[in-house]
Amino acid sequence: MEPVFIKIYDRLLKEFGPQGWWPGESIFEIIIGAILTQNTAWGNVEKAINNLKQHNLLTPPELHQISEKSLARWIRPAGYFNIKATRIKNFLQFLFSQHQGDLLQLGELKLSVLREKLLTVNGIGPETADSILLYAFGKPIFVVDAYTRRIFSRHKFISEKASYPEIQQLFMTNLPQDVGLFNEFHALIVHLGKNFCQRKPRCGKCPLSARVYFRP
Ligand code: SF4
Repeated sequence: MEPVFIKIYDRLLKEFGPQGWWPGESIFEIIIGAILTQNTAWGNVEKAINNLKQHNLLTPPELHQISEKSLARWIRPAGYFNIKATRIKNFLQFLFSQHQGDLLQLGELKLSVLREKLLTVNGIGPETADSILLYAFGKPIFVVDAYTRRIFSRHKFISEKASYPEIQQLFMTNLPQDVGLFNEFHALIVHLGKNFCQRKPRCGKCPLSARVYFRP
């Protein structure tokens, strides 16, 4: 285990504080949010989710019932709304055909089984599946995103071309299997990436600029 991962985590937590992820009042809201957030800013996702809430559509049976076209209209603010409506419908089709629309039943599956099932849904890739597993169902899995790759390759822990499973493995083997820690660490990485480790890094003001946070 590389203690530097915990050092990085502690440093970020001290600097930024708890991030309060994932915003969402129910398992279903978190799942819908995880699909809607693909390639868009969170503010746009919130608008789409509020549309669904205002029209009492944010439950599996309601969304399963409405047409894909109507769904696309309600989620328009999230961008790529036709594609995302299809993805949400794909997820609902899976949920109702294999699990009677019951999210609690789905959540009782073992992590590896549920992950495999989620990945069979067209439009749910590893990052979305892992976000659902961690944030909606509280399963201990580390979510990897573009910021994770950028930050940890700049700090020489991985190559820029490392695959998703390679990066995930690095975190899973160097951190305790703790849902709370995985939850917070990913959120802190996103905050760091958005505010400091941008395309042009702002190392001068970044909390991870000291040598101790780089692989020797
Ligand atoms: S901005 Fe610089 S110091 Fe901060 S995470 Fe990125 S590469 Fe590291």
